Amino acid sequence: MPTVTLSFDNGPDSAVTPQVLDILGRQAIKATFFVIGQKLETPQGQALIAEARAAGHWIGNHTYSHTVPLGRLAGDAAIAEIRRTEALIGAHAGPYPLFRPYGDGGILDRRVLCPAAVGYLCENGYSCIAWNAIPHDWDDPDGWVETALNQIAEQDETLLVLHDIPSGAMDHLEDFIVRAREAGAAFRQAFPTSCRLIWQGKPASGLDAFVAATPADAG
Ligand SMILES: [Zn+2]
Repeated sequence: MPTVTLSFDNGPDSAVTPQVLDILGRQAIKATFFVIGQKLETPQGQALIAEARAAGHWIGNHTYSHTVPLGRLAGDAAIAEIRRTEALIGAHAGPYPLFRPYGDGGILDRRVLCPAAVGYLCENGYSCIAWNAIPHDWDDPDGWVETALNQIAEQDETLLVLHDIPSGAMDHLEDFIVRAREAGAAFRQAFPTSCRLIWQGKPASGLDAFVAATPADAG
């Protein structure tokens, strides 16, 4: 049976994250929220990740400012993007340290990491998690459901990136879940092995394809 792992990036958001948590609760699905550090500076942001974690979801680090891929930053700046967010996630992290790089439109290439970031992530036991399906919910808030259903039909293990941001796309989340199940998909929380760039501090083979040697190398 094909499996689907759901991840929600770029939150938390005071309106949309509670909506997503309600739907996941009703549908008995556990997911991962890859959160932006800047959005955790408020008590409301903190309360949302506490609520998600208490409901059994996982919380991962998705950089502090989410504006420049880490491969285009100097090493110190790249590490700061991770560390600041790590401090803000605090005890809500986990169940183990999780990081997802910023992909600038969902593109996975050499821009997304740099050697300093890889060093920091490995030294601190992080698992760095990519994705293998990105239905562009943020710029296709109605059409993404069909795109995602097609993507999950094409592979045995899907790690889908969605966004708990106010695009309107999450109004269709429950419809997507119901239709995916009707099509035979089973939802799980675990990440497909093929999407693990670093796993518990150990680089996956092929990691180099996602690491810019220098900022100039990142294009
Ligand atoms: Zn993102």
